[in-house]
Amino acid sequence: MIVLMGVAGAGKSVQGKLLADELGYRWLSTGEFLRMHITGKRRAEMLEGKLLDDQEIIDILSGFFAGLEKDEGVILDGFPRTTAQANWLLEQHNTSNINVSAVLHLKASKDVVKARLLERGRQDDTEAAIDARFREYENSTLPIVDLLKEANIPVHDVDGERSIEEIHVQIMSLLNSGR
Ligand code: AMP
Repeated sequence: MIVLMGVAGAGKSVQGKLLADELGYRWLSTGEFLRMHITGKRRAEMLEGKLLDDQEIIDILSGFFAGLEKDEGVILDGFPRTTAQANWLLEQHNTSNINVSAVLHLKASKDVVKARLLERGRQDDTEAAIDARFREYENSTLPIVDLLKEANIPVHDVDGERSIEEIHVQIMSLLNSGR
């Protein structure tokens, strides 16, 4: 399993889909899954850029992992985003339920992601929601990149400010050199 992390607008989904196609892997984006399934008050919270409850996301992923064949290739996009989620993933990894072979951390400045997201114009791409997601990334996601490194998972920083093609080439070369 390859895990894609990074702030919204750094290119996780675009790169995740490209990678899944190139490697013949499944692609699971928790954000995409939630946009398909979540209703009511929690959908409104999502659109404000708030994270959903850890246990709810973990239950969704447990169900997804349970349906996988052993050693099936997966690109996981948008998870983990909190310490509790990261600890759960590490526990799965350490008990060999899944094998996290690499984490790709896409990095981009706030100015770059803001410009990209405002142009994309999804429902949750408002100035306020973009700011909330950037704060969430700094406070919650960045510390777990370190936590995963400390757990000896290979974490690769990727320059997410380059073009789609350049980032993809960089990712492929990082993955190939790590093999
Ligand atoms: P994304 O498409 O990755 O930008 O995610 C869109 C929204 O889905 C986020 O702003 C959160 O509200 C929610 N979401 C996605 N992944 C997670 C996660 N791992 N934990 C909690 N909420 C999430």
